[in-house]
Amino acid sequence: MGKIQLLDENVISKISAGEVIDGPYSVVRELIDNSIDAKSTKIIVNIIEGGKKLIEVIDNGEGMDKEDLEKCYLRHSTSKIRTIEDLYKITTMGFRGEALASISEVSEVEIISKPANQEEGYKITINGGKFISLTPHPSQDGTIVRVKNLFFNLPVRKNFLRSETTEFRNIFDVVIKKSIPFPEIHFEIIHNLKKEIILPKTNSLLERIKNIYPEIKELNYIRKTYDEMEIEIFFSKPSINRPTRNLQQLFVNKRYVESKTFLTAVSNAYSNLVPKGSYPIVFCFITIDPSLIDVNIHPAKKEIKFKNEGKLFHYIIQSIKEGIETTSQIITLEEDNLKFNEFEKQIKRSIEEFLIKKREVEEKPQHYKAFDQLPLQNPKTNYVDKTFSQKYSLPQNNYQQSNTNQNLTQLEKVNKWNFIGTIFNTYLLFENSEEEKVLIIDQHAIHEKLIYSKLYKEILENKNLQKQILLSPLHIELSKDFQTIIKDNYTLFNQLGFEIELNENKITVKAIPTFFGKDIPIEDSIIEICEKIKEGIEPSIENILEIVATISCRKAIKGGEKITSFEAFSLLEESLNSKDSFACPHGRPSMIIFDKKTLESLFLRR
Ligand code: ADP
Ligand code: MG
Repeated sequence: MGKIQLLDENVISKISAGEVIDGPYSVVRELIDNSIDAKSTKIIVNIIEGGKKLIEVIDNGEGMDKEDLEKCYLRHSTSKIRTIEDLYKITTMGFRGEALASISEVSEVEIISKPANQEEGYKITINGGKFISLTPHPSQDGTIVRVKNLFFNLPVRKNFLRSETTEFRNIFDVVIKKSIPFPEIHFEIIHNLKKEIILPKTNSLLERIKNIYPEIKELNYIRKTYDEMEIEIFFSKPSINRPTRNLQQLFVNKRYVESKTFLTAVSNAYSNLVPKGSYPIVFCFITIDPSLIDVNIHPAKKEIKFKNEGKLFHYIIQSIKEGIETTSQIITLEEDNLKFNEFEKQIKRSIEEFLIKKREVEEKPQHYKAFDQLPLQNPKTNYVDKTFSQKYSLPQNNYQQSNTNQNLTQLEKVNKWNFIGTIFNTYLLFENSEEEKVLIIDQHAIHEKLIYSKLYKEILENKNLQKQILLSPLHIELSKDFQTIIKDNYTLFNQLGFEIELNENKITVKAIPTFFGKDIPIEDSIIEICEKIKEGIEPSIENILEIVATISCRKAIKGGEKITSFEAFSLLEESLNSKDSFACPHGRPSMIIFDKKTLESLFLRR
């Protein structure tokens, strides 16, 4: 006799039930999907003991009549699709006709339901997949599904359930993620008779998000329409970010989806604007023709397949980048959102102290020099301090020679600002009396950023990296492991512009990247790069750039160093020129702007 036998029905149904239902949270997920599909406007999730004892979902949707109740718990019974073609135009959350079947297979289920147009409601009871009873039962319009004793007939699964708190946390997370794309539905979660959260209905996605995460104060918004999809994104400024990716969420046709592509696109869009290990907040809602996605690749529908993932990736990056560029690039302190982080608080204190001192002394700070008082023939063209630009290898402007429109508008921008002075030898204070605004620049942070952007531009835009041949090759003694690192990453070093020869116990550097100005120490840099690779950072151009940026930051003007008004203007001008100078490479803000109103409110004049 052969060894292969057909499994009996009972085993088959338990196996497939297990695929759909792997804990209380998946029961909740399926029941909410059904309530949403039934067009409910109110969904209450009532949980006892993390769902181990009871999971109850109450909705006010379409309901089921007696005939539907008789069928709803049978495998492959659904009102949502009829033919295979329907699979390509799914607009409902469920469609496989498996959820109620799987749930009732592994628990004790009661469903009470009444469609609005019926006089009488009914209650059906199923136990471990077996029909028990169907009787008339008083009921509101809508449906109540009660799931008791989950996995009572699957002891192994039951033993694997986590603690009450953990199971509840998972349930909570599911409900939250289900609720976000449906702000027009009222949601409530009750645990052990205590209301955990109430999400009243609203017509704004943003309001729903803020109701769930009250710590989110401000998100920007962009909406883009492409041929086959519409993308709506709520995103934070680069200076507001989190230590985890929890608040980077993707919803496709109102379904929460886990997608690596999405997370990578987000990192890409913010690339050098946020420090490593910090994650901006991004809620992305995609509405796409259902025939361009396949939601049927995961039993719990956690993942979906896109027909053209590359395009989606590109669209997401493009939308976020555009959003970041068009919204204010400078942190604005407004009266109503004076929710300062530590850094901002420090600045605020500095200004207060400065202004109080200024009032007391009633005289201008020592190094005060208003721009229009500078002894220049033609301030519009002369204030750029060439030696300063050269000294710090900043990109240079040739205003003396050229007088194009672009330069003029740039100059007008700079001209609006009056340099008041430096406070605490670190923050440059500018005033724009016409627009009643104050601008504070962290001289160190902005300078780091400018150097960084310059390097970044050279490296990433100029893929064919230039190298400079050293007049006399540099011999560096290096330990074996560092030599191996260089050997293993030879192509990478070459791509960057290094020409290195490996000898016995030393290396000979014959050429270095052009972006290495005079001030970046070659030996230290190479050692630092090797050290970081040894520590485990992934050897990529971006990461090496990060290291070089850190080195360059060290050589940037340190906070506390005095700078002249020439230099201050030079920095202001460079930063207005640079698209993304509002945060230093480590993600700290480098400029803060606020208006007169804010100042007045600090002095309680308002
Ligand atoms: P699916 O959602 O994939 O169709 P389910 O097993 O989840 O399969 O549900 C089976 C059917 O029962 C649904 O198609 C729907 O007609 C009905 N149903 C389930 N839950 C509800 C509910 N809360 N309100 C109204 N009808 C429901
Ligand atoms: Mg369903």
